[in-house]
Amino acid sequence: MDKVKILSKYLPDGAAPLISRWIDYFKCDFKISKARNTRFGDYRPPQKGEGHRISVNYDLNPYAFLVTTVHEFAHLLTWKEHQGRVKPHGTEWKKNFKRMMQPFFDSHIFPEDLRFAIVSYLENPSASSCSNITLLRALKKYDKESASSTVESLPFKTVFRLKDGRTFQKETLLRKRYRCLEIHTGRLYLFNPMAEVYPLQA
Ligand SMILES: [Zn+2]
Repeated sequence: MDKVKILSKYLPDGAAPLISRWIDYFKCDFKISKARNTRFGDYRPPQKGEGHRISVNYDLNPYAFLVTTVHEFAHLLTWKEHQGRVKPHGTEWKKNFKRMMQPFFDSHIFPEDLRFAIVSYLENPSASSCSNITLLRALKKYDKESASSTVESLPFKTVFRLKDGRTFQKETLLRKRYRCLEIHTGRLYLFNPMAEVYPLQA
């Protein structure tokens, strides 16, 4: 199966093509691995004839999977530029993380609350570790992809997915239909109140 198709199963709508290009461009051995309790992902620099290696846990929600993937690619780029001469989460890594996150902001991959949490994480000078509580908490809200539900039964501002993977946020009631914002495109769509959807937020 092709890479973009496989990655799409783990990443938010619209994010897979760029990650796939990075894998090729950096000649990275990218693995989706079983869950580890200690960490979400891992980067290993080239050694003994092997190339860059990145692994990301398979059981992360799509947004956490993407943030972790970008986090690890920022390690890769920082290693390429400085090898082991700089701190793992120092200013060089932070600059790269920010830069590599930008295309996903530009193409509106994240819901507002997450974008805000990531931006404040990037701007906080003390946010140097892999685990930042505020960011983790914001990501965690999207953990449970619950059973299906109807648009009318969801509170306003709830983010939900359709069967085809597209993500929306419930906005307002317009006569008898709900206006919902498609997160990736920023377009508004009208939903039948009984449309079957999968809420991503508690
Ligand atoms: Zn790290």
